[in-house]
Amino acid sequence: MDTALLTRWITGIAETVHANRERLTELDAAIGDADHGVNLDRGFGAAVQALAEEPPASPGALLRLVGGTLIRRVGGASGPLYGTAFREAGRHLGSLGDSPEVSPAELARALRAGLDGVTRLGSAAEGDKTMVDALAPAVRALESATTSATESAVAGTVAGAGGRKAFEAAASAALAGAEATVPMVARKGRASYLGSRSAGHEDPGAASCALVFAALLSAVNDPGQR
Ligand code: ADP
Ligand code: MG
Repeated sequence: MDTALLTRWITGIAETVHANRERLTELDAAIGDADHGVNLDRGFGAAVQALAEEPPASPGALLRLVGGTLIRRVGGASGPLYGTAFREAGRHLGSLGDSPEVSPAELARALRAGLDGVTRLGSAAEGDKTMVDALAPAVRALESATTSATESAVAGTVAGAGGRKAFEAAASAALAGAEATVPMVARKGRASYLGSRSAGHEDPGAASCALVFAALLSAVNDPGQR
């Protein structure tokens, strides 16, 4: 997995966030302040622009640039949280030497570092009705699908069916995790101010996280420009 694939991922996130901007904002209107779609649209749009202006040399550098851009450009809780996720994932790859190509298993471990960064910063656990409810199961699914016996089949490349399956599992886990936030009572973030009235609505950050993993699957499945 190289910078071309990850650039397709980030571009795909920007596109799907833009297309779902109203839906994300409506979800946030129900239990927050109606800005999540706008926040992420601005942030990922800026990230795509930053990648075009200064194409990074490695997946690690790319993830750090995306993370830094989100932290700088997105107001609200989700900018620093998503920004930290991407930046910490990039730092993990940096600590391994910033190779120009990473395996799905390495990306899974990088995203685990990203998740750890999110929980350090926001101290949300699963069940608190946040993006963590989609991110954590997605990372787990990716880890278990890439570190099992299939690792050799997916190392270095996602061309094999094994590689695609891992990203399918992650996308499904994120989506299921987001849907599972509907009955939850929010214990972190703005929605927690509503107490039990936050139940009955999908968490906007979990919904956007499902879009992030759907975009990753699309980038992996897009053979075009590899
Ligand atoms: P804000 O809440 O500042 O308006 P956004 O609307 O952009 O920011 O993002 C809201 C989302 O951020 C929530 O739906 C939730 O998923 C996520 N979030 C908020 N606080 C936390 C936290 N402490 N940990 C993890 N995610 C959080
Ligand atoms: Mg908001």
